[in-house]
Amino acid sequence: MNLHEYQGKSILKSFGVAIQEGVVVDDVNNAVASAKELSEKTGTEWYVVKAQIHAGGRGKGKVEETGSHGVVLAKGIDEVEEKVSGILGGHLVTAQTNGKGKRVSKVLIAEDVYYPGESEPSEFYMSVLLDRDRGRNIIMYSTEGGMDIEAVAEETPHLIFKEEIDPRVGLQGFQARKIAFNLGLSGQAFKQMVKFVDALYSAYKGCDASMFEINPVLKTSDNNIIAVDSKVTLDENGLFRHPDYAEMRDKTEEDPTEVEAGEAGLNFVKLDGNVGCMVNGAGLAMATMDIIKLSGGNPANFLDVGGTADAERVEKAFNIILKDENVKSILINIFGGIVRCDRVAQGIVDAYKNFGTFPVPLIVRLQGTNAEEAKKLIDDSGLDVHSVVLLQEAADKVKEVLS
Ligand code: GDP
Ligand code: MN
Repeated sequence: MNLHEYQGKSILKSFGVAIQEGVVVDDVNNAVASAKELSEKTGTEWYVVKAQIHAGGRGKGKVEETGSHGVVLAKGIDEVEEKVSGILGGHLVTAQTNGKGKRVSKVLIAEDVYYPGESEPSEFYMSVLLDRDRGRNIIMYSTEGGMDIEAVAEETPHLIFKEEIDPRVGLQGFQARKIAFNLGLSGQAFKQMVKFVDALYSAYKGCDASMFEINPVLKTSDNNIIAVDSKVTLDENGLFRHPDYAEMRDKTEEDPTEVEAGEAGLNFVKLDGNVGCMVNGAGLAMATMDIIKLSGGNPANFLDVGGTADAERVEKAFNIILKDENVKSILINIFGGIVRCDRVAQGIVDAYKNFGTFPVPLIVRLQGTNAEEAKKLIDDSGLDVHSVVLLQEAADKVKEVLS
């Protein structure tokens, strides 16, 4: 589950990570009052207004309606309202969104932390993530922060460092010091960075995250180290331990059909083909998608109905698949191991009948416990359903109905 920048920052702060402070606003009429409050708390006189969407590249991105960038500086309280209204309510298009962009329903008004002082502010990159090849968490970091880290990885990979954490002993003091050293820091900034890395790693572990990306991590002109941006992905399997984080989910950022499927307990991923599929088990679902491909079609979705394929569930799955206008036929491929095929068949027949006229050809293959009874049930139902036994027959049927 992905979080907004402001939510990620609130988690970081609760674990003692220093952050760029800010206030969240969803109504332009509250912008000035909120900015003033922030000023009283932090002493800042300049502000950065930052669109809150689940996509990066906001600084370079542009709001469709106004032409404003997604991250802008307000040099004084007088500019706040104008800058907020240039972003809030608009659609922000970045390198990570589609051409229509994402609607901005919240902005973060943050303190300006790039103020002048004894040294120049400098930007670093830092992320904590699970390295699946090594089976360990790593801290990835670079002196080249602020900009596109993919470009750094491509053009100057030697400027990206990795520190691997041994799960038996956790992050060691010498590792945090090595990071601060490699980033070229000394004196107070060095000490602050050691503290920052330590707190960041405990936050990553403590909230069951699968990724933290802080770009930029800023060394301020007075040598403090703070998180200016935050991109946090939490492991959904760990959410039951963190009900307060679970509440941070923003469903408006997700595909609406996938949200609906999730609520119905269906494992659904939308694809852009023409054959809908309804399968139980992820492995069989993958194989079924291959079959569809081989027979000249393209899967319109991945859908794992799970263990119980009763009428209600099948109907829900039909509804979700049929929302997609590209779907020209549906293939049901279910293996009755725990679930009995005749029960599934009854579910399909009942759900099918509820449609009156079913909009696309339906091909059904049920194999496993009571498969014969299931086939008979479908064949005797009098409904226009193609029931098949072999996978090859299913493939041939798909080809036939598409042509
Ligand atoms: P992203 O573009 O979505 O990654 O958004 P960021 O939160 O990283 O902000 C983009 C850029 O805005 C940063 O790389 C900074 O250069 C700039 N920025 C962020 N905060 C401040 C600030 O307080 N003052 C100034 N002057 N620039 C800032
Ligand atoms: Mn960033």
